[in-house]
Amino acid sequence: MTSFATFFDLEEARALEKMLEKREIPFERRVTTDETGIETIELWASDQYYDAACDVTEQLAAAAVAERVERSKHRCPECGSKHLDSVQHETLSWVRRCRDCGCIIAQ
Ligand SMILES: [Zn+2]
Repeated sequence: MTSFATFFDLEEARALEKMLEKREIPFERRVTTDETGIETIELWASDQYYDAACDVTEQLAAAAVAERVERSKHRCPECGSKHLDSVQHETLSWVRRCRDCGCIIAQ
């Protein structure tokens, strides 16, 4: 068995698990919790399925990046907030400022 993906978010792990299930790639989920209570979710596959599992993981990662790029057009890159204000900036002229975390986004 070899680990092919690591997550800190169960929902993200579930998204990959669903894709693996759809392709009938067997895997095993191992959850470890460190002393600070942070859960790490690792997905493991046997050698026979490891390459196929990696392919699916890459596909999901590429889709996630594309989605993030699409979303970042309308959202704060720092916190993902949709509450952006247009403000006048001393050197950049007009920029957008996040109402939630205060970061400045150049247009
Ligand atoms: Zn923000």
